[in-house]
Amino acid sequence: MDITTGLQLLEALRRADQADANLSAASRAAHRASLAATDALTDIANCEQRLDAAHDGEQGAGADLLECARQKYIDAGRRRRSAKSKARRAYTAARTANREFGARYAPHAPGRGTGGKRRPAVAASVLQELAAMPLELITAADALLVHSSGGKDSLVMLDQVATWAHQVGCTDKIVVVHCDLGDTSEWPGVRDLAERQAARYGLRFIAIDSEDGLLGLVEKRGRFPDAARRLCTSSLKRDKANVLLTSIVTALGLDRQAVVINCLGIRSSESPARARKLPLAIDTRTSNRNRLVITWHPVLEWSETDVWERIATEGLEYHPAYDALMPRLSCVFCVLAGYTVLVRAVRLCWALGLPLPEKYTELEARIGHRFKDQYSLADVVVEAAKVEADEGPLKWRCGDAIRAHLGEDAAADYALRYFALAT
Ligand code: SF4
Repeated sequence: MDITTGLQLLEALRRADQADANLSAASRAAHRASLAATDALTDIANCEQRLDAAHDGEQGAGADLLECARQKYIDAGRRRRSAKSKARRAYTAARTANREFGARYAPHAPGRGTGGKRRPAVAASVLQELAAMPLELITAADALLVHSSGGKDSLVMLDQVATWAHQVGCTDKIVVVHCDLGDTSEWPGVRDLAERQAARYGLRFIAIDSEDGLLGLVEKRGRFPDAARRLCTSSLKRDKANVLLTSIVTALGLDRQAVVINCLGIRSSESPARARKLPLAIDTRTSNRNRLVITWHPVLEWSETDVWERIATEGLEYHPAYDALMPRLSCVFCVLAGYTVLVRAVRLCWALGLPLPEKYTELEARIGHRFKDQYSLADVVVEAAKVEADEGPLKWRCGDAIRAHLGEDAAADYALRYFALAT
């Protein structure tokens, strides 16, 4: 399958899925409207019975209730008619979208059905095929947004995508996007580092500012986010990046649907949720008639060692927090981090003279909500003080991250390569 056909199939799939979702929503609304009309009819019958049994003095109030129930029935009937007509239109649209998809897919799998049940399997196979042709994908895209946290996984993903884009002469399509949560959320120097990482390949870099970062969000909501309600990622990162995506598509000024690829540096070994991801996925939430948005995870199958090997062999600049053996360059106190990582983060704040442990524990006390269900950040600070008393202040050397993952020789090679590239 060539890339153009693949992308057309993805769009046809997206439309069919969207049309089916619209049909389900319209059918549910029609069902709810029917139930409301039935309830209103029962109310009328009850009111009529009560009115028949009412004494003279109570008849006025009974008649008012009956009138009210009849009005409700009329309103419910109107809603039911409107909902049923919407459901009919949604049914026709879904049938058309499914036929269009079937017609597009049939030449590629003669004799195999493409009904709703088979569609996820078809989507997975098309996406898998496209993921195996990165150069064609980059060439066919109108824009690529490379989301960079400045962390190690974003760094190697950026290196990989920039290398491919360079091979096909498409680096001008790439925009490196960094969501800057500010110095009350992140380690010092992250934004500048992300900018330097993009500059290495001559790529356009856009930083999206967040007014008050994680701390501000928690202050506003009166509670910390958690794994089930990760509002921090959606409101501080994803929603803002989507606004940027819209402006990029508008600036393209195309008279056809734009193909935009969102590149993310996640890896399947990071969590069970990430292990379920595919290398490519249609971003149904962000796609519409004007843009087909595809999410791409180019380093999904990479191990942590693969990541450090790429950093070492290419002499890529990483954040010094990794040398202090922080496993991720997330927010200083990430709501998804484990206890020992948080303890280390507190100790690293102390080593760097950052006032964040106090700020966060004061916030916890003020809003009366703990950083995590199981423990507070104040508990973490107490534990960090104990570890510090036993082990002394946190110390690290430049290159410790490479040393820990790849050994002393690799750290020495990295230092030579990095400084050679930097000068
Ligand atoms: S790094 Fe952690 S705390 Fe920060 S936005 Fe992401 S999930 Fe939320």
